[in-house]
Amino acid sequence: MPAKSMDEIVSLCKRRGFVFQGSEVYGGLKGTYDFGPLGVELKKNIRQAWWRAMVYERDDIEGLECAHISHPLVWKYSGHEAGFFDLLQDCKKCKARLRSDHLVDGKCPNCGSTDLTEPRPFMLMMKTNIGPVDDGSSFAYLRPETAQGTYLNFKNVVDATARKLPFGICQHGKSFRNEITPRNFLFRQREFEQAEMQYFVQPGTDEDWWKKWREIRTAWWVEQGIPAEKLRFHPHDKLAHYAKMAGDIEYEFPWGFDEVEGIHDRQDFDLGSHTKNQDKYPIQAKVLKNTDSTVEMSYTDVMDGNKKFIPFVVETAMGLDRAFIALMMQAYTEETLPNGETRLVLKLKKHLAPVKVAVIPLKRNNEQIVTLAHQIKEDLLKTGIGRVMLEDSGNIGKAYRRHDEIGTPICITVDFESIEQSPATVTLRNRDTMAQERVAVADLPKYLKEFFL
Ligand code: ATP
Repeated sequence: MPAKSMDEIVSLCKRRGFVFQGSEVYGGLKGTYDFGPLGVELKKNIRQAWWRAMVYERDDIEGLECAHISHPLVWKYSGHEAGFFDLLQDCKKCKARLRSDHLVDGKCPNCGSTDLTEPRPFMLMMKTNIGPVDDGSSFAYLRPETAQGTYLNFKNVVDATARKLPFGICQHGKSFRNEITPRNFLFRQREFEQAEMQYFVQPGTDEDWWKKWREIRTAWWVEQGIPAEKLRFHPHDKLAHYAKMAGDIEYEFPWGFDEVEGIHDRQDFDLGSHTKNQDKYPIQAKVLKNTDSTVEMSYTDVMDGNKKFIPFVVETAMGLDRAFIALMMQAYTEETLPNGETRLVLKLKKHLAPVKVAVIPLKRNNEQIVTLAHQIKEDLLKTGIGRVMLEDSGNIGKAYRRHDEIGTPICITVDFESIEQSPATVTLRNRDTMAQERVAVADLPKYLKEFFL
């Protein structure tokens, strides 16, 4: 059964070291979070699962990593400088600061009052100063999405890889938005990580690709452990400035269905906006006249008489932090055992588990047991299954409880039998079934490689 509230996840995250409040020592900085020892592992594994599915398992997608800070002109021509605003209203009764699109039937969601200020626009992009003089003239924006860096490098990637349409470029990394009301833990932050893919296609094939990517990405979420009935696709009622078709993959959080990934048909808006010599091309989206770009963002079709045109783009835009909480929520399981006790288990898919195997020496002051535990850990690390940790807290019951809570699929206990008997054996405990079995130490690498890979 998934978590019933965000509080359960927040508490587990803090207690076991997944996530901490950003700048906590100084009272916290709203909308920022730090990932702890287990959080970095889980986030890395989600990122890797995405990269593997998008880049390694396909033959039509390349990777890219762009700078976080970028030239103001990028955001002028992307349309963000003029259009990346939320409408802000204040509740005159409880003084809450509210996003107009988050009002409930025109009422403050905090106190229900309808006595609100008029909506006014609020810029979502964050600025930073560049260079030694802070006179306001030399600034850059922190990117609010990874996508624009990908568009700017479209020609570089085509030239370097000789890719033919259709093909995609993946990028993950931090994005920054000055959200009016950061809320719901990692769900709405001011600094967060995105995992985005821009798929470049022939104009006219974009609607088909948009449907295909919607299916491919939904299937990915199911593979990560979200049951299909907890997902839905919600088409946008109001389209962003760049979009022809758009919608969100939503997960059923305890507060209802909410967005985890957007699927957007951005047409030729972005490449068209950043291209020089716009007049040479029949750009279909409404773009800003570009007088600054130095590159033509076009594609030459050698299969069609070297025709030059600006490709259309279908984008998949996932929030890694929202994936993090959705997957944790779904995995969060409280079980009542036959003896009446309860246990908390994080039933993450094996490939996502922060720690794959915990090796537990039964007696931490027995040199032979500890040495064998170390050796097992080293042998297992070489198999490439992921993080194997030596858990020498000394209390086996506590170790099992901790590893159930953080989702470790396998615990290995090294005990007296392990050093007394030949061939040496250890106890393997399965997180989900709690079944225990004796396995020969020599067989562990093969056994666990088959289990994990
Ligand atoms: P929302 O409508 O929730 O503000 P959005 O439609 O503006 O989100 P996109 O611009 O499509 O979001 O960004 C792609 C993904 O990035 C979203 O699906 C979400 O998972 C993630 N994301 C966007 N804003 C935030 C945020 N402030 N904190 C955490 N993740 C975010």
